[in-house]
Amino acid sequence: MKYDYLVVGAGLYGAVFAHEAKKAGKTCLVIDKRNHIAGNIYCENVDGINVHRYGAHIFHTSNKEVWEYINQFAEFNHYINSPVAVYKDELYNLPFNMNTFSRMWGVKTPAEAKAKIEEQRAELGITEPKNLEEQALSLAGRDVYEKLIKGYTEKQWGRPCTELPAFIIKRLPFRFMYDNNYFNDRYQGIPMGGYTKIVEKMLEGIPVQLETDYFDFIKENPEIAEKTLFTGMIDEFYGYKLGTLEYRTVRFETEKLDMENYQGNAVVNYTDREVPYTRIIEHKHFEFGKQPVTVISREYSSEWKPGIEPYYPINDEKNNGLFAEYRKLADKEEKVIFGGRLGNYKYYDMDKVIEAALELVKTELA
Ligand code: UDP
Repeated sequence: MKYDYLVVGAGLYGAVFAHEAKKAGKTCLVIDKRNHIAGNIYCENVDGINVHRYGAHIFHTSNKEVWEYINQFAEFNHYINSPVAVYKDELYNLPFNMNTFSRMWGVKTPAEAKAKIEEQRAELGITEPKNLEEQALSLAGRDVYEKLIKGYTEKQWGRPCTELPAFIIKRLPFRFMYDNNYFNDRYQGIPMGGYTKIVEKMLEGIPVQLETDYFDFIKENPEIAEKTLFTGMIDEFYGYKLGTLEYRTVRFETEKLDMENYQGNAVVNYTDREVPYTRIIEHKHFEFGKQPVTVISREYSSEWKPGIEPYYPINDEKNNGLFAEYRKLADKEEKVIFGGRLGNYKYYDMDKVIEAALELVKTELA
């Protein structure tokens, strides 16, 4: 065996593990089928603007250990995510807060907003929310649900809100304060210089082989490492033998525009169904860019098919059940570990990815 570990996937999960393994005196080879490292947090520099090529990534966490961990690799700026939502010709602040309620109903105080929501909730008679629709309705009432949640969610997930798990909407804060911070976390920001540099630093001194497909590579190099950390799709690893897990994919239409400021905000969500994209990202605003030009990406969501990039696992009952079956196979593996968003089939934020990788480090490298 040439290495202790073969790490499949040079994304955040694999990079954290490889970095810690090297520190613990282990040898790793990292392979990735793409032509670059950093997985979906990869940024591409266009005229001095870090373009988030696989979708906007905003780092936020309440875990001090994770925050200190990531800060070894980069300094973070003071960006606070405050998206706005466009619904037809109306514009609202997100997440759902007093600014949103005030614009929606003309209310001024939390008591007035609560009364309005209560009135709408009472009409619906939901006691225990069973799905995303009921959860959203009971949190925010019918108006907010219909204007800001329903269309966006059905575009993003391609399923009716009644068939989606409630936890998806619970990701977002819902508060009776005039506070447009999209997250409740203690720490937040964008790494100065972009995310790719973080992963570059993590992988310093570790051999990385790009444009290398695991399934071909392992046929030719079956004896390459004692153990494999596989961060790709767990169902693909098993040749889809129990069935295919479903994923959502995102397509980006990225454009460079000859103007300084296109939309005045990094993230603008389009919450009505008629607009085909879910949001427009203006990348420079993540880093307070002053370039004379700007780069925007329109985001289109669709069902994943083999051959394209999977993004979001669909953590509904059906898919979680199938994943549990794959997990049983995985538990029997002595030489293969599964990790990351695709290996664990989990809708992970970056901080949770790091947390999970550090957990593995504790058990695997102890
Ligand atoms: N969501 C919504 N309206 C919005 C933004 C988000 O209804 O304007 C819902 C939608 O269901 C989405 C979920 O909230 O899937 C989580 O949004 P988040 O911004 O956390 O998604 P991500 O950034 O991970 O794509």
